[in-house]
Amino acid sequence: MAAIEKRSRDAWQALDSEHHLHPFTDHKALASKRSRIIARADGVYIEDVDGKRILDAMSGLWCVNAGYGREEIVEAAAAQLRELPYYNNFFQCAHPPSIELASMLTELAQPQFKRVFFAGSGSEANDTVVRMVRRYWDLMGQPERHTIISRKNAYHGSTVAAASLGGMKPMHEQSGLPIPGIAHVEQPYWFDSDRSLDPEAFGLVAARSLEQKILELGADKVAAFIGEPIQGAGGVVVPPASYWPEVQRICDEYGILLISDEVICGFGRLGCWFGADYFSTRPDFMPFAKGVTSGYLPLGGVLVSDRVADVLIDKGGEFFHGYTYSGHPAACAVAIANLGILRRENLVERVADDIGPYLQARWHSLAEHPLVGETRMVGLMGAFEMVDDKASLRRFEEAYRAGTVFRDRCIERGVVLRAVGDTIICAPPLTLSKAEADIIVDTAWSALDETHEHIKGRPA
Ligand SMILES: *Cc1c(COP(=O)(O)O)cnc(C)c1O
Repeated sequence: MAAIEKRSRDAWQALDSEHHLHPFTDHKALASKRSRIIARADGVYIEDVDGKRILDAMSGLWCVNAGYGREEIVEAAAAQLRELPYYNNFFQCAHPPSIELASMLTELAQPQFKRVFFAGSGSEANDTVVRMVRRYWDLMGQPERHTIISRKNAYHGSTVAAASLGGMKPMHEQSGLPIPGIAHVEQPYWFDSDRSLDPEAFGLVAARSLEQKILELGADKVAAFIGEPIQGAGGVVVPPASYWPEVQRICDEYGILLISDEVICGFGRLGCWFGADYFSTRPDFMPFAKGVTSGYLPLGGVLVSDRVADVLIDKGGEFFHGYTYSGHPAACAVAIANLGILRRENLVERVADDIGPYLQARWHSLAEHPLVGETRMVGLMGAFEMVDDKASLRRFEEAYRAGTVFRDRCIERGVVLRAVGDTIICAPPLTLSKAEADIIVDTAWSALDETHEHIKGRPA
């Protein structure tokens, strides 16, 4: 039954408001505005309960890489649920989908990865990483190597450990985080810096803040460094080319494990299978989630390199860690079908050679708009910065809420982009057509014009 036949929009919204606590939401503010009820989706379009179609240029939450409405994925889930809806991978058991997916993932990853640990989400994957990193150094006879270094404005999830790894102050302040043994260093966000250095010089400085922290803590106390190849939730922060090679050098020099959080960058987003491939790093762990199933079912996990896995296996005995839904059979079957589609339709190559370069060129044309101070995009992951003054790249006063004004105008015009402050971000499904890419950019331009009119001449 269609959602609208079951209840009116008003009734859905009232019920939602009464009973449903949403993630990352100010409920008092939501009660006056009401939720947008999304009822269905197909291709790159979502449709609300009134039947309004909106181009989803954020792939849900960066996850619907293969696009909506994929019968093949639906069929894989249904078939698996019929055959074996649930069994665990504890106590010397396994099932075909978890085995097959583990082997498939290691084929796609760099050669040091031959093993996978499954979880239910990206947050859980990062909790697993924290446990494995510390276990590894214990087994190596260096239990003092305990601290994991991350970056300010990083996002690694929302469980206690993952939010601690993240570098978002408001999240830490609300919950007494971070937990002990986690430190944060500078992020490679040139636009957000004082811009006194050119981007490449700035990239080296940001990387060397890791080295400074290692020296400050003592190299024998540092276990690992974690970073998103490109920070997603932080505002699609594309690091200068100088950044990752210097981080890799530092990790190598001090023997520190490198964790590449591939939850967004993995599975084709950057035109490679993993973000580590794009930036030529050689990580020891790759937590993943989101695009692995295109979001059709929840699944996360960690690719574990031989350096770590061999020690855990040879010396570790039982690792007291796992989730009821580690390698859920239906989620694994969905992932297998999804990866099959990405491969068969060459969607990763398409992002590298075809639709990626096309959307990038169109996206960069937004830099000509008076409200845009910078555009950036790698593969199908991009951002632009809204500015009050284009010459000095000065941002708007916060009270204008320029990003939010833009975002709402954009959705009214039929395209979902997301606002991180006044940074507007974009990450459409990898199936995006050129005509759909044009719609995103043309709509963004009109919504920028409208925002310009709305804001200019008004006090903050
Ligand atoms: C979304 C995200 C996570 C957390 O994943 P969940 O499935 O929401 O727990 C972790 N790392 C990065 C880089 C993410 O973008």
